[in-house]
Amino acid sequence: MALKKKKTLSGGSVLKVKASVAPLNFGTQWQYVEALEGSDHVKIEPKYGLFIDGKFVEPHSKKYFDTINPANEKVLSKIAEADAHDVNLAVEAARRSYDNVWSKMSGKERGKYLFRIARIMQERARELAVVETLDGGKPIRESKSVDIPLAAAHFFYYAGWADKLEYAFSGRSPRPLGVAAQVIPWNFPLLMAAWKIAPALATGNTVVLKPAETTPLTALKLAEIFQEADLPPGVVNIITGFGATGAELVSHKGVNKVAFTGSTEVGKKINRAILGTDKRITLELGGKSAHLIFEDASIDQAVEGIVNGIFFNQGHVCCAGSRLLVQESVEKIVLRKLFDRMQTLAVGDPMDKNTDIGAINSHEQMKKIEGYIASGKTEGAKLFQTSCRLPSKGFWAKPTVLSEVAQSFRVVQEEIFGPVLTVQSFRTVEEGIEKANNTPYGLAGGVWTDKGSKIFSVSSHLRAGVVWANTYNKFDPTSPFGGYKESGMGREGGISGLLPYVQF
Ligand code: ADP
Repeated sequence: MALKKKKTLSGGSVLKVKASVAPLNFGTQWQYVEALEGSDHVKIEPKYGLFIDGKFVEPHSKKYFDTINPANEKVLSKIAEADAHDVNLAVEAARRSYDNVWSKMSGKERGKYLFRIARIMQERARELAVVETLDGGKPIRESKSVDIPLAAAHFFYYAGWADKLEYAFSGRSPRPLGVAAQVIPWNFPLLMAAWKIAPALATGNTVVLKPAETTPLTALKLAEIFQEADLPPGVVNIITGFGATGAELVSHKGVNKVAFTGSTEVGKKINRAILGTDKRITLELGGKSAHLIFEDASIDQAVEGIVNGIFFNQGHVCCAGSRLLVQESVEKIVLRKLFDRMQTLAVGDPMDKNTDIGAINSHEQMKKIEGYIASGKTEGAKLFQTSCRLPSKGFWAKPTVLSEVAQSFRVVQEEIFGPVLTVQSFRTVEEGIEKANNTPYGLAGGVWTDKGSKIFSVSSHLRAGVVWANTYNKFDPTSPFGGYKESGMGREGGISGLLPYVQF
């Protein structure tokens, strides 16, 4: 790779990497040679049926819909759309398998299947990462280093619990619930499937999972892995479709447990749909999480955390640090450093290993983000966007900062789910906490300070399920995750993640 030093206007120099092909689109200071991840080793079928009772089957509806690559709008595959009849077949298969096989199997044997699934996921990690990036638009660097390893880690972690459940709930005898209906969103498709399926299986439940309509492919690849692992038929069924399929599934009378991750709006609908039934429910919903940057924080480290928290993965993270609350005395320096750092972010082809910010997941989501930016401007916010060029095909959004906003602005109160950060300042610790807590959500938060005691006192006052200190967006299968207020009910991950799937 050829490196060139290039004189800048200010007299300094930046490193320029000579490009054999004109780079798609990068920040203003840095240019890198395109480094595309190969996709020749990946097989995506032209058409996928529903995965019911261990086999891929034609949908009763006879209907299929396209799943596309959001970076170029090309069709990747045709996906079956399950109707009420299909949902019923899937729930019945899960019930048979629960009654006859899975609930009768020892925890040790169930654990072996989970370990096997985790190992096959690791063996097929590169393929899964490529499919995740093609179908969802997220940078390949992220699929490879975050999504797929963490998904496998969840199977490993819960495999370890399968034969130790009496130690997780000491003095009590946990029993499974039955059939779990699980509905997941498009931001971390395989990881969300792993979060939901692994604890359900470890505790002896069987599953019907519905992935999001824009990102069904890795869940269908996971179905292939279940076949490869010889998982008994019906233990996990994967049905694809839109919201109507999800609604049929969660309200099916053969379902004992509902687990949903997605928007607060749909979460409320699901909660209403199962009201008056004896179904158990966990909801992991939206967020409007805040970074609190105190004047004694390491500013460079904090800026990196802010960038990681909202711009990487296009802000498609429910716990994204979408609000920046900065102590007034350091506001100017934080913003200057942040804007400089943002200019170096590479927005472009998600399959390029240099890319920091990939494609927005769908046209609908792109329009929603644009709508929020327009609303922020109308309400009086000051706009900063990086000077990157956006590709002409596909769905994109520039990294955006909206400063000079008030607490009442829609962009401060509502979840945008895009690379858009709002900025407010505060003077005292109490004011910072008050502003951080003043939204309908309570999923996560970030505290940036040099003082350990401040970390503990501030985080104990934040009404948020997860608080990171001097870092952000760090995940581990052993840690519980979930929200306060409109961010949801129940916890996933860690020992807490077993509880929603057992009764005593
Ligand atoms: P997002 O805003 O993240 O797109 P949604 O809440 O719209 O999330 O969707 C998350 C998941 O919920 C998707 O799999 C979607 O198909 C499903 N879904 C949408 N509407 C309903 C509904 N009424 N009942 C059950 N599932 C639904």
